[in-house]
Amino acid sequence: MTFRALLATKPHDAISTQVVEFDEADLSPGDVTVAVDYSTVNYKDGLAITGRMPIIQSFPLIPGIDFSGTVIASTNPDFAVGDPVLVNGWALSHDHHGGYAQRARVKSEWLVKIPQPLSTRDAMAIGTAGYTAMLSVLALEHGGLTPDRGDVLVTGASGGVGSVAVALLSGLGYRVVASTGRLEETDYLKSLGATEVIDRRELSQAGAPVANERWAGAVDSVGSHTLANVLAQTKYRGVVTTCGIAQGPDLPGSVLPFVLRNVTLAGIDSVNAPQKVRLEAWSRLAKDLDLNKLNSTTSTIGLAQIDDVARLVLDGKIRGRTLVDVNA
Ligand code: NDP
Repeated sequence: MTFRALLATKPHDAISTQVVEFDEADLSPGDVTVAVDYSTVNYKDGLAITGRMPIIQSFPLIPGIDFSGTVIASTNPDFAVGDPVLVNGWALSHDHHGGYAQRARVKSEWLVKIPQPLSTRDAMAIGTAGYTAMLSVLALEHGGLTPDRGDVLVTGASGGVGSVAVALLSGLGYRVVASTGRLEETDYLKSLGATEVIDRRELSQAGAPVANERWAGAVDSVGSHTLANVLAQTKYRGVVTTCGIAQGPDLPGSVLPFVLRNVTLAGIDSVNAPQKVRLEAWSRLAKDLDLNKLNSTTSTIGLAQIDDVARLVLDGKIRGRTLVDVNA
């Protein structure tokens, strides 16, 4: 049997992608086969498809670091035909065929059953970016942050991780300050729950090793000078999470926020997170995320538009989340 898929090849130096008819027999090994409904275009998908970072390790490969759908074959009794499931990360789009296809075959230990009341569409509207935002919120809570401690900053706020982090934190009762390079998105960010919106240029240049205390906590997906400045402005015993490199992977700061102000910097990795942590994150997303806010952050494309959108994501030109309807 064949199905439609976006296939990445690397005939010479550059990666190219094309929508093709793919044979199910050529899928990667695994004990569960899924009829895919949705995937998404994350920042990491942009890096993979453009080859800006060597994410794809084996060609030809179906990219797509996440997907949701319905089990159509399984040799693991924990997953029955008809179960709605999702996958984030693991080896998808590295050396295992990913989510940009109408079928996928994976190891059952990678799968999460989609918790009620989320649909397969909701699950990918959240996607890896939203799940990473939840992992960040869990890390803030683990570090002792509570809404009474003061303002929480979200950087890269118009992006996928940022948008969901703003919606989640405001829903949990935090006063959220959104940092963005797109001040024209102020109304959008306020509709997600931001109380205040600041220009990211306030944070993006080299700054002092410690500065006035502003943030009780922060969710950073930007890195570089932005993260160094956020740490320098974090209050005594504040908590900051780091998951991304949209400004850069460097951290040009000092240890002073840690040794003078007892600030905690928590690293966030979604790709290899243990299953227990994933299940907690997805059950909290099902409970805590306002799905109406989520829908306002989401646009939908088909397989043929992925390549163009992936480039726009890397240029910071996409607002919120981009859902891929693989059957469109
Ligand atoms: P998006 O592209 O959707 O959002 C990134 C946002 O960062 C942009 O929308 C923009 O927000 C801001 N930004 C872009 N360029 C710059 C810049 N030069 N300086 C400062 N801010 C900038 O990506 P995602 O939200 O999907 O991912 C964000 C980051 O998190 C990426 O680096 C991604 O790789 C990483 N990530 C890591 C994961 C992990 O497991 N550790 C999982 C998921 C994502 P605005 O316009 O509002 O300023």
